[in-house]
Amino acid sequence: MSFRDNIRKVVPYTPGEQPKLSKMIKLNTNENPYPPSKEVEKVLQGLDMDRFKLYPDPKIEKLVTAIADNLGVASDKVFVGVGSDDVLAMAFMTFFNSDKPIIFPEVTYSFYDVWADLFKIPYKTFALKDDFSIDVKDFCVDNGGVVLANPNAPTGIYESLEFVEEVLKNNKDSVVIVDEAYIDFGGNSAISLLDRYENLVVVQTFSKSRSMAGMRIGFAVASPELIKAMNDVKYSYNSYTMSYASIEAGTAAVNDKEYFEQTRNKVILTREEAKKELTKRGFTFPDSMTNFIFATHKEKAAADIFEELKKRGIFVRYFNKPGIDNYLRITIGTDEQMKEFFDALDEILA
Ligand code: PMP
Repeated sequence: MSFRDNIRKVVPYTPGEQPKLSKMIKLNTNENPYPPSKEVEKVLQGLDMDRFKLYPDPKIEKLVTAIADNLGVASDKVFVGVGSDDVLAMAFMTFFNSDKPIIFPEVTYSFYDVWADLFKIPYKTFALKDDFSIDVKDFCVDNGGVVLANPNAPTGIYESLEFVEEVLKNNKDSVVIVDEAYIDFGGNSAISLLDRYENLVVVQTFSKSRSMAGMRIGFAVASPELIKAMNDVKYSYNSYTMSYASIEAGTAAVNDKEYFEQTRNKVILTREEAKKELTKRGFTFPDSMTNFIFATHKEKAAADIFEELKKRGIFVRYFNKPGIDNYLRITIGTDEQMKEFFDALDEILA
Protein backbone atom coordinates (compact mmCIF):
# COMPACT_ATOMS: atom_id res chain seq x y z
CA MET A 1 0.00 0.00 0.00
CA SER A 2 1.42 3.38 -0.96
CA PHE A 3 0.13 6.93 -0.61
CA ARG A 4 -0.24 6.80 -4.38
CA ASP A 5 -3.09 4.30 -4.03
CA ASN A 6 -5.05 7.02 -2.28
CA ILE A 7 -4.56 9.71 -4.87
CA ARG A 8 -7.77 10.44 -6.75
CA LYS A 9 -7.26 9.54 -10.38
CA VAL A 10 -9.25 11.47 -12.92
CA VAL A 11 -8.91 12.28 -16.59
CA PRO A 12 -9.31 16.06 -16.69
CA TYR A 13 -11.32 18.11 -19.15
CA THR A 14 -9.15 19.49 -21.96
CA PRO A 15 -9.85 23.18 -22.50
CA GLY A 16 -9.28 24.77 -25.90
CA GLU A 17 -5.83 26.15 -26.60
CA GLN A 18 -4.98 29.65 -25.34
CA PRO A 19 -2.00 30.36 -27.62
CA LYS A 20 0.39 33.10 -26.53
CA LEU A 21 0.95 34.57 -29.99
CA SER A 22 0.87 38.34 -30.32
CA LYS A 23 -0.96 38.25 -33.62
CA MET A 24 -3.56 35.57 -34.16
CA ILE A 25 -7.21 35.09 -34.92
CA LYS A 26 -8.75 33.15 -32.10
CA LEU A 27 -11.90 31.32 -33.14
CA ASN A 28 -11.40 28.24 -30.97
CA THR A 29 -13.02 28.72 -27.55
CA ASN A 30 -16.30 30.50 -28.25
CA GLU A 31 -15.22 33.76 -26.67
CA ASN A 32 -16.91 36.98 -27.72
CA PRO A 33 -14.73 39.04 -30.11
CA TYR A 34 -15.94 42.33 -28.60
CA PRO A 35 -14.69 43.79 -25.32
CA PRO A 36 -16.93 43.95 -22.24
CA SER A 37 -19.14 47.00 -21.70
CA LYS A 38 -17.42 50.35 -21.04
CA GLU A 39 -19.33 50.38 -17.74
CA VAL A 40 -17.30 47.33 -16.69
CA GLU A 41 -14.08 49.15 -17.54
CA LYS A 42 -15.16 52.20 -15.53
CA VAL A 43 -16.09 50.13 -12.50
CA LEU A 44 -12.82 48.22 -12.58
CA GLN A 45 -10.81 51.41 -12.81
CA GLY A 46 -12.65 52.83 -9.84
CA LEU A 47 -12.30 49.83 -7.51
CA ASP A 48 -11.60 50.70 -3.89
CA MET A 49 -8.21 49.15 -3.04
CA ASP A 50 -9.13 49.14 0.65
CA ARG A 51 -11.94 46.71 -0.07
CA PHE A 52 -9.48 44.08 -1.27
CA LYS A 53 -8.14 43.54 2.22
CA LEU A 54 -11.59 42.39 3.32
CA TYR A 55 -13.33 39.16 2.39
CA PRO A 56 -15.97 39.67 -0.29
CA ASP A 57 -19.69 39.18 0.38
CA PRO A 58 -20.21 35.38 0.56
CA LYS A 59 -23.85 35.88 -0.47
CA ILE A 60 -22.83 37.88 -3.57
CA GLU A 61 -26.00 39.90 -2.93
CA LYS A 62 -25.28 42.81 -5.25
CA LEU A 63 -24.72 40.63 -8.32
CA VAL A 64 -27.46 38.15 -7.42
CA THR A 65 -29.95 41.03 -7.17
CA ALA A 66 -28.78 42.61 -10.44
CA ILE A 67 -29.18 39.29 -12.29
CA ALA A 68 -32.56 38.59 -10.67
CA ASP A 69 -33.86 42.08 -11.53
CA ASN A 70 -32.63 41.73 -15.10
CA LEU A 71 -34.48 38.43 -15.49
CA GLY A 72 -37.56 39.57 -13.58
CA VAL A 73 -37.29 36.79 -10.98
CA ALA A 74 -36.97 36.90 -7.18
CA SER A 75 -33.39 37.00 -5.90
CA ASP A 76 -33.84 33.76 -3.91
CA LYS A 77 -34.05 32.02 -7.28
CA VAL A 78 -30.50 32.96 -8.35
CA PHE A 79 -27.14 31.32 -7.52
CA VAL A 80 -23.91 32.92 -8.75
CA GLY A 81 -20.57 31.15 -9.26
CA VAL A 82 -17.12 31.39 -10.81
CA GLY A 83 -18.16 30.82 -14.41
CA SER A 84 -20.87 28.37 -15.35
CA ASP A 85 -18.31 25.57 -14.96
CA ASP A 86 -18.31 26.26 -11.22
CA VAL A 87 -22.10 26.56 -11.14
CA LEU A 88 -22.54 23.30 -13.07
CA ALA A 89 -20.04 21.49 -10.84
CA MET A 90 -21.93 22.72 -7.75
CA ALA A 91 -25.21 21.60 -9.31
CA PHE A 92 -23.80 18.13 -10.07
CA MET A 93 -22.55 17.86 -6.48
CA THR A 94 -25.84 19.07 -5.04
CA PHE A 95 -28.42 17.27 -7.16
CA PHE A 96 -26.88 14.07 -8.48
CA ASN A 97 -26.68 11.72 -5.51
CA SER A 98 -28.67 8.76 -6.75
CA ASP A 99 -27.41 5.24 -7.45
CA LYS A 100 -29.14 5.51 -10.82
CA PRO A 101 -27.11 6.98 -13.69
CA ILE A 102 -27.54 10.57 -14.77
CA ILE A 103 -28.11 10.94 -18.50
CA PHE A 104 -26.83 13.24 -21.25
CA PRO A 105 -25.97 12.92 -24.95
CA GLU A 106 -22.69 11.32 -26.01
CA VAL A 107 -21.83 14.43 -28.03
CA THR A 108 -22.26 17.42 -25.76
CA TYR A 109 -20.17 19.65 -23.50
CA SER A 110 -17.27 17.37 -22.63
CA PHE A 111 -17.04 18.51 -19.02
CA TYR A 112 -20.17 16.59 -17.94
CA ASP A 113 -18.55 13.15 -17.87
CA VAL A 114 -15.46 14.63 -16.17
CA TRP A 115 -17.54 15.99 -13.27
CA ALA A 116 -19.49 12.75 -13.10
CA ASP A 117 -16.23 10.81 -12.75
CA LEU A 118 -14.79 13.29 -10.25
CA PHE A 119 -17.88 13.16 -8.03
CA LYS A 120 -18.35 9.41 -8.57
CA ILE A 121 -21.77 9.91 -10.14
CA PRO A 122 -22.82 7.02 -12.41
CA TYR A 123 -23.78 8.22 -15.89
CA LYS A 124 -25.12 6.95 -19.18
CA THR A 125 -24.87 8.64 -22.54
CA PHE A 126 -26.90 8.17 -25.71
CA ALA A 127 -26.08 8.84 -29.37
CA LEU A 128 -27.42 11.88 -31.19
CA LYS A 129 -29.52 11.35 -34.31
CA ASP A 130 -27.70 11.40 -37.66
CA ASP A 131 -28.43 15.10 -38.06
CA PHE A 132 -26.95 15.71 -34.56
CA SER A 133 -30.32 16.58 -33.06
CA ILE A 134 -31.48 14.88 -29.85
CA ASP A 135 -34.21 12.24 -29.75
CA VAL A 136 -36.46 13.27 -26.87
CA LYS A 137 -37.16 9.56 -26.23
CA ASP A 138 -33.57 9.14 -25.05
CA PHE A 139 -34.36 11.43 -22.14
CA CYS A 140 -37.44 9.41 -21.19
CA VAL A 141 -35.73 6.59 -19.29
CA ASP A 142 -35.31 5.95 -15.58
CA ASN A 143 -32.37 8.04 -14.32
CA GLY A 144 -30.73 9.83 -11.39
CA GLY A 145 -30.63 13.21 -13.12
CA VAL A 146 -30.68 14.89 -16.51
CA VAL A 147 -28.27 17.32 -18.18
CA LEU A 148 -29.20 19.07 -21.40
CA ALA A 149 -27.04 21.73 -23.07
CA ASN A 150 -29.41 23.90 -25.07
CA PRO A 151 -28.22 24.99 -27.57
CA ASN A 152 -26.02 21.91 -27.58
CA ALA A 153 -22.26 22.16 -27.94
CA PRO A 154 -20.36 21.59 -30.13
CA THR A 155 -23.23 21.12 -32.61
CA GLY A 156 -24.86 24.54 -32.08
CA ILE A 157 -28.33 23.02 -32.39
CA TYR A 158 -31.11 24.62 -30.36
CA GLU A 159 -34.02 22.42 -29.28
CA SER A 160 -37.37 24.18 -28.82
CA LEU A 161 -38.94 24.98 -25.46
CA GLU A 162 -41.56 22.33 -26.29
CA PHE A 163 -38.71 19.81 -26.41
CA VAL A 164 -37.34 21.00 -23.05
CA GLU A 165 -40.84 20.81 -21.58
CA GLU A 166 -41.24 17.25 -22.85
CA VAL A 167 -37.97 16.34 -21.09
CA LEU A 168 -39.23 17.97 -17.87
CA LYS A 169 -42.63 16.26 -18.02
CA ASN A 170 -40.96 12.89 -18.34
CA ASN A 171 -38.47 13.47 -15.53
CA LYS A 172 -40.49 14.74 -12.60
CA ASP A 173 -38.43 12.67 -10.15
CA SER A 174 -35.03 13.99 -11.26
CA VAL A 175 -33.39 17.36 -11.29
CA VAL A 176 -33.07 18.54 -14.89
CA ILE A 177 -30.14 20.89 -15.55
CA VAL A 178 -30.44 22.95 -18.72
CA ASP A 179 -27.06 24.46 -19.61
CA GLU A 180 -27.82 27.62 -21.57
CA ALA A 181 -24.27 28.93 -22.11
CA TYR A 182 -25.21 30.06 -25.65
CA ILE A 183 -28.90 30.92 -25.26
CA ASP A 184 -28.47 34.67 -25.81
CA PHE A 185 -27.49 34.10 -29.45
CA GLY A 186 -30.95 33.09 -30.58
CA GLY A 187 -32.92 30.63 -28.46
CA ASN A 188 -35.65 31.07 -25.86
CA SER A 189 -34.57 30.44 -22.31
CA ALA A 190 -36.18 27.70 -20.23
CA ILE A 191 -36.32 30.25 -17.39
CA SER A 192 -39.92 30.83 -18.55
CA LEU A 193 -40.72 27.23 -17.49
CA LEU A 194 -39.44 27.62 -13.92
CA ASP A 195 -42.83 28.43 -12.41
CA ARG A 196 -44.22 25.14 -13.67
CA TYR A 197 -41.31 22.76 -13.04
CA GLU A 198 -39.80 22.74 -9.56
CA ASN A 199 -37.10 20.25 -10.65
CA LEU A 200 -35.61 22.59 -13.30
CA VAL A 201 -32.21 24.31 -12.96
CA VAL A 202 -31.20 26.73 -15.75
CA VAL A 203 -27.51 27.67 -15.96
CA GLN A 204 -26.13 30.64 -17.90
CA THR A 205 -22.82 32.47 -18.21
CA PHE A 206 -21.25 35.91 -18.69
CA SER A 207 -18.44 34.30 -20.72
CA LYS A 208 -20.09 34.41 -24.13
CA SER A 209 -22.80 37.01 -24.67
CA ARG A 210 -21.32 39.43 -22.12
CA SER A 211 -17.70 39.09 -23.29
CA MET A 212 -16.42 38.25 -19.82
CA ALA A 213 -14.83 34.80 -20.04
CA GLY A 214 -11.79 36.17 -18.21
CA MET A 215 -13.81 37.45 -15.26
CA ARG A 216 -15.41 34.05 -14.52
CA ILE A 217 -19.11 34.65 -13.80
CA GLY A 218 -21.95 32.19 -14.24
CA PHE A 219 -25.30 31.68 -12.58
CA ALA A 220 -28.15 29.25 -12.01
CA VAL A 221 -31.84 30.09 -11.84
CA ALA A 222 -34.15 27.63 -10.06
CA SER A 223 -36.74 27.38 -7.29
CA PRO A 224 -35.69 28.85 -3.91
CA GLU A 225 -35.57 25.27 -2.56
CA LEU A 226 -32.98 24.16 -5.13
CA ILE A 227 -30.99 27.42 -4.88
CA LYS A 228 -30.80 26.99 -1.10
CA ALA A 229 -29.54 23.43 -1.58
CA MET A 230 -26.80 24.71 -3.92
CA ASN A 231 -25.83 27.45 -1.47
CA ASP A 232 -25.63 24.92 1.37
CA VAL A 233 -23.18 22.87 -0.69
CA LYS A 234 -21.23 25.98 -1.67
CA TYR A 235 -20.90 27.11 1.97
CA SER A 236 -19.70 23.59 2.83
CA TYR A 237 -16.94 23.83 0.28
CA ASN A 238 -15.80 27.43 -0.37
CA SER A 239 -17.80 30.40 0.93
CA TYR A 240 -15.96 33.19 -0.88
CA THR A 241 -16.17 32.20 -4.50
CA MET A 242 -16.61 35.61 -6.10
CA SER A 243 -14.00 38.34 -5.66
CA TYR A 244 -15.01 41.92 -4.91
CA ALA A 245 -13.79 42.81 -8.44
CA SER A 246 -15.94 40.23 -10.21
CA ILE A 247 -19.03 41.16 -8.18
CA GLU A 248 -18.65 44.81 -9.17
CA ALA A 249 -17.75 44.09 -12.81
CA GLY A 250 -20.58 41.58 -13.21
CA THR A 251 -23.12 44.02 -11.82
CA ALA A 252 -21.98 46.73 -14.24
CA ALA A 253 -22.24 44.29 -17.15
CA VAL A 254 -25.81 43.21 -16.32
CA ASN A 255 -26.91 46.81 -15.97
CA ASP A 256 -25.66 47.80 -19.43
CA LYS A 257 -28.53 46.27 -21.36
CA GLU A 258 -27.97 48.38 -24.46
CA TYR A 259 -24.39 47.21 -25.00
CA PHE A 260 -25.44 43.60 -24.43
CA GLU A 261 -28.11 43.89 -27.14
CA GLN A 262 -25.71 45.60 -29.53
CA THR A 263 -22.91 43.06 -29.29
CA ARG A 264 -25.05 39.96 -29.32
CA ASN A 265 -26.88 41.27 -32.39
CA LYS A 266 -23.55 41.92 -34.10
CA VAL A 267 -22.44 38.36 -33.40
CA ILE A 268 -25.76 36.99 -34.71
CA LEU A 269 -25.49 39.02 -37.95
CA THR A 270 -21.89 37.91 -38.52
CA ARG A 271 -22.92 34.30 -37.85
CA GLU A 272 -25.68 34.44 -40.46
CA GLU A 273 -23.22 35.90 -42.99
CA ALA A 274 -20.67 33.20 -42.08
CA LYS A 275 -23.25 30.49 -42.78
CA LYS A 276 -23.61 31.79 -46.35
CA GLU A 277 -19.85 32.04 -46.84
CA LEU A 278 -19.26 28.51 -45.54
CA THR A 279 -21.99 27.10 -47.80
CA LYS A 280 -20.43 28.84 -50.82
CA ARG A 281 -17.16 27.05 -50.05
CA GLY A 282 -18.63 23.54 -49.83
CA PHE A 283 -19.19 23.25 -46.08
CA THR A 284 -22.31 21.83 -44.45
CA PHE A 285 -23.33 22.33 -40.83
CA PRO A 286 -26.28 21.95 -38.51
CA ASP A 287 -28.10 25.27 -38.20
CA SER A 288 -26.44 27.13 -35.33
CA MET A 289 -28.16 29.33 -32.75
CA THR A 290 -24.88 30.00 -30.94
CA ASN A 291 -21.70 32.03 -31.43
CA PHE A 292 -20.05 29.17 -33.32
CA ILE A 293 -20.69 26.94 -36.32
CA PHE A 294 -19.89 23.21 -36.42
CA ALA A 295 -18.95 22.55 -40.02
CA THR A 296 -17.63 19.79 -42.24
CA HIS A 297 -16.23 20.12 -45.76
CA LYS A 298 -17.39 17.93 -48.64
CA GLU A 299 -13.83 17.15 -49.79
CA LYS A 300 -11.09 18.34 -47.49
CA ALA A 301 -10.58 16.64 -44.12
CA ALA A 302 -11.29 18.81 -41.07
CA ALA A 303 -7.99 17.82 -39.43
CA ASP A 304 -6.07 19.12 -42.47
CA ILE A 305 -8.00 22.40 -42.62
CA PHE A 306 -7.41 22.81 -38.87
CA GLU A 307 -3.63 22.42 -39.29
CA GLU A 308 -3.48 24.69 -42.32
CA LEU A 309 -5.43 27.42 -40.52
CA LYS A 310 -3.15 27.11 -37.51
CA LYS A 311 -0.07 27.64 -39.71
CA ARG A 312 -1.66 30.94 -40.71
CA GLY A 313 -2.27 31.98 -37.08
CA ILE A 314 -5.98 31.17 -37.20
CA PHE A 315 -7.21 28.92 -34.42
CA VAL A 316 -10.46 26.94 -34.60
CA ARG A 317 -11.44 23.88 -32.52
CA TYR A 318 -11.04 20.31 -33.71
CA PHE A 319 -12.27 17.32 -31.68
CA ASN A 320 -10.58 14.04 -32.50
CA LYS A 321 -13.58 12.05 -31.34
CA PRO A 322 -15.49 9.34 -33.27
CA GLY A 323 -18.54 10.71 -35.07
CA ILE A 324 -17.34 14.34 -35.05
CA ASP A 325 -13.73 13.99 -36.19
CA ASN A 326 -14.41 15.50 -39.59
CA TYR A 327 -15.88 18.70 -38.17
CA LEU A 328 -14.46 22.07 -37.15
CA ARG A 329 -16.05 24.25 -34.52
CA ILE A 330 -15.59 27.81 -35.68
CA THR A 331 -16.27 30.62 -33.21
CA ILE A 332 -17.82 33.75 -34.70
CA GLY A 333 -15.32 36.61 -34.62
CA THR A 334 -15.61 40.21 -35.81
CA ASP A 335 -16.45 40.81 -39.49
CA GLU A 336 -12.76 41.62 -40.09
CA GLN A 337 -11.59 38.40 -38.43
CA MET A 338 -14.10 36.37 -40.42
CA LYS A 339 -12.88 37.97 -43.64
CA GLU A 340 -9.32 36.88 -42.84
CA PHE A 341 -10.61 33.42 -41.93
CA PHE A 342 -12.44 33.07 -45.27
CA ASP A 343 -9.45 34.42 -47.22
CA ALA A 344 -7.30 31.75 -45.55
CA LEU A 345 -9.90 29.09 -46.32
CA ASP A 346 -9.89 30.12 -49.99
CA GLU A 347 -6.12 29.59 -50.08
CA ILE A 348 -6.39 26.22 -48.29
CA LEU A 349 -9.21 24.93 -50.48
CA ALA A 350 -7.74 26.22 -53.79
N1 PMP B 1 -21.40 25.04 -20.88
C1 PMP B 1 -21.08 24.95 -22.17
C2 PMP B 1 -21.99 24.21 -23.08
C3 PMP B 1 -19.89 25.53 -22.65
O1 PMP B 1 -19.55 25.42 -23.93
C4 PMP B 1 -19.07 26.25 -21.75
C5 PMP B 1 -17.81 26.93 -22.26
N2 PMP B 1 -16.70 26.15 -22.32
C6 PMP B 1 -19.45 26.30 -20.40
C7 PMP B 1 -20.63 25.71 -20.01
C8 PMP B 1 -18.60 26.96 -19.36
O2 PMP B 1 -18.39 28.29 -19.56
P1 PMP B 1 -17.93 29.25 -18.38
O3 PMP B 1 -17.37 28.42 -17.25
O4 PMP B 1 -16.93 30.15 -18.99
O5 PMP B 1 -19.16 29.97 -17.96
